[in-house]
Amino acid sequence: MGDAAQQSRSARAAYFAALPWGQILEDAAQLSAVCRHDGQLADYIPALARVAPDQFGIAVATLDGSIHSVEDCATRFSIQSISKVFLLSLAYRSYGESLWERVRQAPSTNPFNSLIELELERGIPRNPFLNPGALVVTDALLSRHTHLESAMVALLRELAGSAGINYDSEVFNSELRCASRHFAAAHLMQSHGNFSNVVSEVVRAYCASCAIEASCVELARAGLFLANGGRAIEGGRQLLSAHEAQRVCALMLTTGTYEYSGMTAFAIGLPTKSGVGGGVLAILPGRGSICIWSPRLDARGNSVRAMKALELISNAAGLSLFA
Ligand code: GLU
Repeated sequence: MGDAAQQSRSARAAYFAALPWGQILEDAAQLSAVCRHDGQLADYIPALARVAPDQFGIAVATLDGSIHSVEDCATRFSIQSISKVFLLSLAYRSYGESLWERVRQAPSTNPFNSLIELELERGIPRNPFLNPGALVVTDALLSRHTHLESAMVALLRELAGSAGINYDSEVFNSELRCASRHFAAAHLMQSHGNFSNVVSEVVRAYCASCAIEASCVELARAGLFLANGGRAIEGGRQLLSAHEAQRVCALMLTTGTYEYSGMTAFAIGLPTKSGVGGGVLAILPGRGSICIWSPRLDARGNSVRAMKALELISNAAGLSLFA
């Protein structure tokens, strides 16, 4: 990067860090409260239906290491599909561009657990943030990691600088007991020759990743490496190249909130990944990251209040990539 580009990047990061976060987050919490009772808990995983539904927290992490947060920002919740960002990052690091022979980079208008495209498109999932895509990524990782479940927890702990992150075994067992669609997707991909490991082991590792618990503060910190050209803030490890981090962000923007991704680009303008635990992680390349959590979901599986709050913050602070 040239000197001028580096200077403008540093200026952007400094501007972001100096925003009046206390006020911005208070306003977002207050204004998003109008939809605090909208949406439903993810009851297809029974353990998630037992979460107290009105919780809400926000954490913003800046590249200088500061955290700004409100409300239930330190309460751990089930990260669910937000884990797909970290699974993808581990696999991309391990396989490089050859990963894309097994999973594509295209958006989908079908739900995250749909099998329709998978059969029509010969067992190659559209993208790594759909369940079949994340299963194929997990399969690839299992070929290289004997203890993938511990590797995932270790990665989150390292990136968040928090030794307390762990699995919730109740959520893990709850999802595994109703994982028929995961098995169906994996077997379908296996029948098309796009699967290497024992299906049940891959499904277990996938459900374990989804069952990791972390707070908004921890996830905002963990996501910072993507805002920082692939380099971890905690410890400084270069997890992905800057080019790879850029591509993970592009996928988050175009596919990270499922069928809503086009609207996310339009209304929020940030690479964003949601999970059915109600968490939403947004990356601001060169600036920082934001994690918001509130458990009630819309029909697509995105948290109603978290997405509303993210939209309010993005618009109030002019954070869209396109601003
Ligand atoms: N574990 C969930 C599932 O596979 C993740 C879905 C999500 O968070 O979007 O159904």
